[in-house]
Amino acid sequence: MTDRRSSLPPANGPLASGEAVPARPAAGETTHFGYQTVRKEEKAEKVAEVFHSVAAKYDMMNDLMSLGIHRLWKRFTIEMSGVRPGQQVLDIAGGTGDLARAFQKEVGGNGRVVLADINASMLAVGRDKLLDVGVAGQVEFVQANAECLPFAPGSFDLITIAFGLRNVTDKDAALRSMYQSLKPGGRLLVLEFSKPVIEPLAKVYDAYSFSLLPLMGKLVANDAESYRYLAESIRMHPDQETLKGMMQNAGFERCDYHNLTGGIVALHRGFKF
Ligand code: SAM
Repeated sequence: MTDRRSSLPPANGPLASGEAVPARPAAGETTHFGYQTVRKEEKAEKVAEVFHSVAAKYDMMNDLMSLGIHRLWKRFTIEMSGVRPGQQVLDIAGGTGDLARAFQKEVGGNGRVVLADINASMLAVGRDKLLDVGVAGQVEFVQANAECLPFAPGSFDLITIAFGLRNVTDKDAALRSMYQSLKPGGRLLVLEFSKPVIEPLAKVYDAYSFSLLPLMGKLVANDAESYRYLAESIRMHPDQETLKGMMQNAGFERCDYHNLTGGIVALHRGFKF
């Protein structure tokens, strides 16, 4: 993996840095990073390396790897969000800002959109992209860890996390933190890779993920390793029903999910009442 932090264009304004401090995992506890078992405190560093490495080419690789289908998954997420003018929205793990940009249009001048991410390189690319399309001034950028969001309880009508949760070390803590940051009546949408529900599709998808993805990563981004992590992290992520149960455990009600593209991706939704 190459670290491209230093080659990123200079930042065009301050990034607010989240103030909450993540709980330190007890020494010796392990978790997974793709198929590797690592100490819990190591995982965040390894995930950070991946996203510092891929940030500059993230959008191009996303279009290439999904043949543009990620745009349809995100469009569905926006439609299911029920977001209205004037509402307060947090897109956590928002990366290069696709959802934040769309939500800004929906909430208008009286609303608020916060794009938060743990990774400065991804935020910098997102901020530059939103500057280019003229909406950066209307979106707040915050560097924050999903496990310990630095917002007052009850701040948001809607929280989204797209292709972010599987990278978080303590997913239960992240879900609890998102629950706390929502207003009563607010909702969480989790867009994430999931478990294909059609057997022949699962076989083709496996072959694609473990052969073609790392190859594309090597040829286009000179980084096979990050794209191998992508394939492995998807397989290690909780399936549809498990994630639904985790959301319920965090306090969410009326939880449901929609399988997209045969379950390659699922959109989970839960409410805080
Ligand atoms: N949401 C964007 C999208 O759909 O295109 C970006 C998704 S990208 C695959 C995953 C993002 O999750 C990265 O920007 C990464 O920095 C962020 N991330 C990973 N762990 C995080 C954490 N603990 N808290 C906040 N963001 C995190």
